[in-house]
Amino acid sequence: MIAIDDKCPACGCRLTWEQVTCLGCGTPVGAPNVREVAVERDKLLTRYEKMVEESKARGCFDEVSAFTDRVVNDSEAVINLWPEFLAQFLNGDKSIYSTYALQTDAETRKAAERSNDKERRGTEGTLFGKYGPHIRYAALSLDGGEGLVSYGSCSVSLRQLLCLNTATLMEENSYTFLHRHRILPGDPIPEARRAVWQDRHYLATAKLADKIDKNTTDGQFAELLLFSEGDRATDEFIEVHVYGPFSKEAFVAAVIPSIQQAKTKDDRFYLSNIRDNLGKSGIPCKQV
Ligand SMILES: [Zn+2]
Repeated sequence: MIAIDDKCPACGCRLTWEQVTCLGCGTPVGAPNVREVAVERDKLLTRYEKMVEESKARGCFDEVSAFTDRVVNDSEAVINLWPEFLAQFLNGDKSIYSTYALQTDAETRKAAERSNDKERRGTEGTLFGKYGPHIRYAALSLDGGEGLVSYGSCSVSLRQLLCLNTATLMEENSYTFLHRHRILPGDPIPEARRAVWQDRHYLATAKLADKIDKNTTDGQFAELLLFSEGDRATDEFIEVHVYGPFSKEAFVAAVIPSIQQAKTKDDRFYLSNIRDNLGKSGIPCKQV
């Protein structure tokens, strides 16, 4: 989707930043995160080009280019879920992947611990404002691999078209990002640290080119893009922000723990249920 900046393409009516349809004629104008981030594109390209020039000076232009190509061709947005949740989600025909804010506000789930709740709501308010409650979080992963296993042992890849229409990316975890840049509520967000889906390879290269040298191999690219060994404190990744709800029809592949590895009887049941359900839907499911 081409992002629309400030005027409705159908009637010319001025758009407010958070609308998804024109208030004058009802024409869909795109996800507000996509519209917000798209205006930084030139700054992102400048940052990317600077890193490419530096890679030439360091003699590793080919390796950096190979990384950029792999991200544009083979990266996906991956969400991580625990087996019980994913099994129940796949079992229900009416399941919708919702957000923490919408669920707590609707009183369908309890709040997290007080400090975690304040952290989530504060971060979303500072980064997204009014549309924050509608953002779902994923991570950018290569080769249909595992995502952030610290958030759930089952990794599920999302359709490219969903991401094209609704996703933007930020170069790291949003809470860490706000702290690193000392951003307070109402402050501007530093430019060129976010990208629309089509530009994810520029953001990944801008962030990671200086970690690539002439000895870096293709086999190292996936871990460079996303590193997770099950501890949220050491996770390194590019965060994906998906605006709006999606259902299991948005799932294209999954990586789940092998049933032999399950520690409890319940997990064995859930994992086997997930495998069977994905199989019936024709969604590839890798067991690791
Ligand atoms: Zn209009």
